[in-house]
Amino acid sequence: MSENQASAEPRIVLLGPPGAGKGTQSSNIEATFGVPQVTTGDALRANKDLETDHGTPREYMDAGELVPDPVVNEIVVEALSNTEGFVLDGYPRNLAQTEYLDEMTDVDVVPLLQASEEELTRRLTGRRVCPECGATYHVEFEPPEEEGVCGECGSELTQREDDSEETVRERIRVYEESTEPVVDFYRESGELVEVNGENSPEEVWKSLREAIERNV
Ligand code: ADP
Ligand code: ADP
Ligand code: ZN
Repeated sequence: MSENQASAEPRIVLLGPPGAGKGTQSSNIEATFGVPQVTTGDALRANKDLETDHGTPREYMDAGELVPDPVVNEIVVEALSNTEGFVLDGYPRNLAQTEYLDEMTDVDVVPLLQASEEELTRRLTGRRVCPECGATYHVEFEPPEEEGVCGECGSELTQREDDSEETVRERIRVYEESTEPVVDFYRESGELVEVNGENSPEEVWKSLREAIERNV
């Protein structure tokens, strides 16, 4: 096998501001490329009231701030310990996490999903999630068949506490301050591929898939 041949299990870091469509598209990546989706936000939400040396994740998440690195790093070490390929969604979010990941593993490609702040705000404030199965909807762009009800499992849909307009604004600010340096890191190391995230989910997936196939 030549060294340039696609590795069986791609190692993908999906970057983008809150609401860019990372969760939606990492599910596509998982289904198509057969690699596990590692979503730090989901792992943290499942442990929101866990007491750590740094307090509970909830204290940070509900304010739109980053949960301290040691808590998040531990989740990722554990998740990557028994898999070759992966799609990381929501990690790394600052330079310290990026350096930590860089010590842990190589990555093949880092797609960056882009969308305007106006579009991000529209997406996040209209997002609805299923507390049972994790399915994601949007009241306007991706509505469930029956209003307020999960099409996958029939549970009642909820709104994330941090998807309020005020917290969304803070999350976008935190992204610009802490995560844009991560984008620069991967641009300089040559793994970054920019993907327009403004189109329909299907169109975004088409470009994203092509970008991944070209780079693994
Ligand atoms: P992220 O994980 O980056 O925060 P999500 O995948 O959860 O983003 O998407 C945020 C919201 O926008 C969800 O309600 C989702 O249904 C919706 N959404 C995702 N991709 C698109 C798209 N391409 N166009 C319109 N709405 C989208
Ligand atoms: P979104 O992609 O919509 O911004 P996530 O579900 O990825 O939301 O993250 C929700 C919250 O979880 C973040 O605002 C932050 O408080 C916490 N979080 C998720 N990933 C990380 C991370 N890598 N480092 C620190 N905090 C994180
Ligand atoms: Zn459901």
